[in-house]
Amino acid sequence: MNEIEEYAKINRIPIMQKDGIEYLCQYIKDNNIKSILEIGSAIGYSSMKMALVSDDVHVTTIEKDIDRYNIAVCNIMKNNLDGQITIINDDACNTTINGKFDLIFIDAAKGKNTLFFNKYKDNLNKNGVIITDNLSFHGLVENPSLIKTKNQRGIVNKIKDYIIFLDNNNEFITTYIPLGDTISISKRRDDDE
Ligand code: SAH
Ligand code: MG
Repeated sequence: MNEIEEYAKINRIPIMQKDGIEYLCQYIKDNNIKSILEIGSAIGYSSMKMALVSDDVHVTTIEKDIDRYNIAVCNIMKNNLDGQITIINDDACNTTINGKFDLIFIDAAKGKNTLFFNKYKDNLNKNGVIITDNLSFHGLVENPSLIKTKNQRGIVNKIKDYIIFLDNNNEFITTYIPLGDTISISKRRDDDE
């Protein structure tokens, strides 16, 4: 795993930050999560970390970039996790996933969080949760004065829209965890709430 962290650093692949992934893995353990759908595999780092929580965790993960997908496949094989991780090379905007999951982890194109949330929420088990990474976008959401490019501004605005979407969602209740790059945890409201 250290090698993968190093590779990501050198090649500027935005894998989860250490305290964020640690929190996520602890959450998986504490909540007895067994089935995970991840949007955005990159080179397989977070899917492998989650699979390593327990032998009976299964992760389905989607990556659209063919080069990253190929590296992820290699990493997963090398670590003998291919029995626990199913990786799909596709654009998650168009993929159809059958089956239900205890956790959906959104960590792909930051402007498409709402789309992914709405598209995949029907793949959640009854008490399932949707977790999203990078809600602070390296601090730019809280400190817009640090924004340097038009592209960054566009992404920050979309993340803000996503936070508004989550805060006003009648079906899910969301809490924010200020670890790593800030993650959100969205749980379906109970019917009688
Ligand atoms: N979860 C990974 C990091 C993912 S980085 C980890 O922490 O280890 C985000 C990844 O999402 C990138 O590799 C990018 O290619 C991928 N991505 C972006 N848009 C996507 C889409 N529409 N469908 C699938 N993957 C996408
Ligand atoms: Mg991320």
